[in-house]
Amino acid sequence: MRVLVTGGAGYVGSCCAAELISRGHEVVVLDDLSTGNRDGVPPEATFIEGDLISDSARALEGVDAVIHCAARSLVGESVEQPAEYWHGNVVSTLALLDAMREADVKNIVFSSTAATYGEPEQVPITEDMPTRPTNTYGATKLAIDMAITSYCVAYGFAATSLRYFNVAGAHLGFGENRVVETHLIPLVLQVAAGHREKIFVFGDDWPTTDGTCARDYIHVGDLADAHVLALESNAAGEHRIFNLGSGEGFSVQQVIDVCRTVTGHEIPAQVSPRRAGDPATLVASSEQAKSVLGWQPSRTDLTTVVEDAWEFLRALGDRAHSAHR
Ligand code: UDP
Repeated sequence: MRVLVTGGAGYVGSCCAAELISRGHEVVVLDDLSTGNRDGVPPEATFIEGDLISDSARALEGVDAVIHCAARSLVGESVEQPAEYWHGNVVSTLALLDAMREADVKNIVFSSTAATYGEPEQVPITEDMPTRPTNTYGATKLAIDMAITSYCVAYGFAATSLRYFNVAGAHLGFGENRVVETHLIPLVLQVAAGHREKIFVFGDDWPTTDGTCARDYIHVGDLADAHVLALESNAAGEHRIFNLGSGEGFSVQQVIDVCRTVTGHEIPAQVSPRRAGDPATLVASSEQAKSVLGWQPSRTDLTTVVEDAWEFLRALGDRAHSAHR
């Protein structure tokens, strides 16, 4: 297949593009480089620098299917600047979907989020739980999921939305390399690498085993695998929604401890106030993805996730040094 990966210069998109290429697919990347970076695009891919509204039509030329990862994705920012998120996520995606209709390309995998569920009544979160997003980011992704459902029913689109929480690790040489980093694992590893002084732990009085928040960290390689499996099995008129996760919650303290062991660095940590909007525990159930897609995550061990992220960060540092020489 020739596959358009939107947001293919960003973290998840670049790993999906690399996975597709490794399986013999052709890839076109459309990215406006607003948060992604050019180095994130696999060299084998055709790269189009542009946005979904102006450039979807030309990016879709000769394409059979789409993996849609392009999005604004910072929860806090989405609450402060909702217009950026409704336009950047919803309006842009409608432009992509309409360009797909026009080009008669109807196979799509959408990188959605488990933030569509909001504060869960219970964990692990299954697909039949109520969707009550607590921030604009989750609301925009839910709105897109709804649009996709109706495009499947009325226009015969074949679609899958994948809802996941915390992605980490690296895959086929691609990993997290953001200008502004807010995620736990890359931040902790930046402390280990000496780029930051310490990690702030957002609260230690949560109702969890050690008082710090628990999250489900999915390896980006397993996530990329799910995107490709979904694309290869989409059926016309059907919109499937699957949650993805490692199935296990790890606390912030456990993450820091694993990072200390993997890197051999001390990693100073300091407890600070809770962050607004953080639930205590988020764990997704992936049973549906396993049984329907045949998805088999193979890197569910947190140590493997951290080892891969650390290796990527160090390689990035080496590349930066050689570029400055
Ligand atoms: N976290 C933290 N310190 C940081 C960044 C994150 O304690 O500097 C915590 C955060 O409160 C959450 C977990 O780590 O419980 C994962 O946060 P992240 O931002 O990586 O992902 P999120 O769960 O918000 O999607």
